[in-house]
Amino acid sequence: MTYIDVHSHSAAAQNTDTVTVVNNGPASGLFSAGLHPWHLSPENLEDSLTALEKRLQSSSCAALGETGLDKICGTLWPLQQEAFLRQIKLVEIYSKPIIIHCVKAYQEIIAAKNESSVPWIFHGFRGSAEMAESLTKKGIYISFGAALLDLENGNLREVFRAAALNHIFLETDESSFPIVDIYHEAANLKGISIDELTDAIKNNFIKVFGDILK
Ligand SMILES: [Zn+2]
Repeated sequence: MTYIDVHSHSAAAQNTDTVTVVNNGPASGLFSAGLHPWHLSPENLEDSLTALEKRLQSSSCAALGETGLDKICGTLWPLQQEAFLRQIKLVEIYSKPIIIHCVKAYQEIIAAKNESSVPWIFHGFRGSAEMAESLTKKGIYISFGAALLDLENGNLREVFRAAALNHIFLETDESSFPIVDIYHEAANLKGISIDELTDAIKNNFIKVFGDILK
């Protein structure tokens, strides 16, 4: 049984039954590399893209990300858009999936999907059931995190319950809950066994990331 944590900011969580895609992680183990909209600066964009391209060339680099658009952060919108679109174009060369950070920018991000032929995962999904359905029908994957454990977050738990099993992932992101706890609650919400859930997510992982698990 393998628990896949598709997006984590902690490299410490690695253990034998867990596969973790560590955000901007160390070169050992799987990682993703991307320019986050929170941390862009116009002076550094070219250098950052050059450094990013080097990381994307690594065989341990599983994905571009997280990257995306965020309407409530302070980064200038045109800079966010330029950085996002250039990263999308860059990763086409390397054919790796993209882990998307989206805050109040679904429309703009979905519009950019036409420029991209690689699989997309919206991480930390907190949208509506309608948005979940619309994304997964477009073949986009959505990833849920520790917010599922919050019993007061009934809406999101319902969204997860209804979400297409063949288009979901689970993640720890910045939370300190173990990924196993998130799997248990997720299986419970879906009314399926842990085995069925780990199998389903492993299949999704192989579809999106190819055979990098061997
Ligand atoms: Zn994150």
